[in-house]
Amino acid sequence: MTRAFLVLWAGLTALVGVAHGAQADDKLKVAASFSILGDMVKQVGGDRVEVVTFVGPNGDAHVYEPTPADAKALSQSKILFINGLGLEGWMTRLENSLGFKGKVVTVSNGVKPRKMLEDEKTTTDPHAWQDLANGEVYAANIRDALIAADPAGKVTYEANAKKFIDAMAAMDANVRQAIAKLPPERRRIITTHDAFGYFGAAYGLEIIAPEGVSTESEASAQDVAKIIRQIRSENIPAVFLENVTDHRLLDQIARETGAKIGGELYTDALSPADGPAATYLDMFRHNIETLTAALSA
Ligand code: ZN
Repeated sequence: MTRAFLVLWAGLTALVGVAHGAQADDKLKVAASFSILGDMVKQVGGDRVEVVTFVGPNGDAHVYEPTPADAKALSQSKILFINGLGLEGWMTRLENSLGFKGKVVTVSNGVKPRKMLEDEKTTTDPHAWQDLANGEVYAANIRDALIAADPAGKVTYEANAKKFIDAMAAMDANVRQAIAKLPPERRRIITTHDAFGYFGAAYGLEIIAPEGVSTESEASAQDVAKIIRQIRSENIPAVFLENVTDHRLLDQIARETGAKIGGELYTDALSPADGPAATYLDMFRHNIETLTAALSA
C-alpha cells in the first residue's frame, strides 16, 4: 500500500464521518402542535433537534384536520409538545389513531390557568403563551423534556433555554413600558376572538371581547349588533384584526361604529418566515408596536 493511498483513505474516512455527523437522522425528532410552540422548541433545541409543526403560520390551532403526512411525522417523533389547557382537541384524535408511543409533553404545566367565556360557557382559556412569564414556564418545560430525551445535549439545551428566557424577560419589560406610556383611558381594545386574556391581565390592557364569538363558530347578526353597541357605549378607540380569524366581521364593525381598525395582531399563530411575526418574540414585538401605534394617537 502506498503512502498516497493511505492518506487518501484516511481523508475519505474523515469526510464520511463529518457527513454522517451532520445528517438530519442524528437529530432528535420532535413534533409541536402549532407554530408558536414549534418556534419555542426550535429556540431551546437549536441544532440538535428537528422540529415538525402541525398547524403552520396563520393557521387556526383550535380546529385542524391532521393529514396522513402529519401522522407519519408524528410516528417518527420521540416527543410531542402540546400547549394543553384544551387548545388541541384534535391532537388527541391524531395520537389515538396512531397509537403514539413517544412522550407527550404539555408545555403549559405549571402556569396558572385563566377562565374564559366561550359560547356562553365558562371554559379554560388556552392562550397562556400571550403572557411572557408563562412563556418562560413553557421554555423550562421544553428544556427539561429535551434533556430527558437527549441527556448528551444537556449543556446546549440549558444554554439555549437561558438565552431564550432572558430575551423573554427583556421583552416583558418592553411590553410593560410601552403599555404604561398609553393614556389609561385608552388601554382597552376589542378583538373578535378572546385570545388576549392572559396578555391583558399581565400587562394592564382591558380586553373587551365580544361574547359568544370563537374561531370555531361564526358570529351571528345578533353578536355583531351586540359588539357594535358595546363599542359605542364604552367608547372603544380601536378594533384589531387577528391573523387567524375572518376579517369581514371587524371590517363591518369598524364601518358601522367609526372605531379605527388598529392593525393586525398575531394571537394563535406566527406569520410566515418573511412576515412580521415569524418567531414567538417577534410576535410580541409586532403586537406591541401595532397596539401602541393605534392607541397612543
Ligand atoms: Zn385562540
